[in-house]
Amino acid sequence: MKNQCTFCFQCNLFKGKISLPEDVAIMYKYHYCLSQTEKWKQCKRYTFENINGYCPDFVMPNSLLTIDQIWQRTQQEYALQH
Ligand code: SF4
Repeated sequence: MKNQCTFCFQCNLFKGKISLPEDVAIMYKYHYCLSQTEKWKQCKRYTFENINGYCPDFVMPNSLLTIDQIWQRTQQEYALQH
């Protein structure tokens, strides 16, 4: 479909697998995932996923973290788990 993010079917936020207040989830979907002006291209989850093939759940569409900061935090969390 044209007017939705190409990652909708693999994105945990879109699929409701990230715990968020319902109104916040709807707001993200309205403003990013299903944007009529392709605003998903400004979504930080979209950007990170496009580069790395996945996106950790702590990243929100309007995150102010840089891609490098997200990557570093992802590596730190992975190191703590293993
Ligand atoms: S949260 Fe971002 S990456 Fe996920 S479906 Fe919405 S626009 Fe796409």
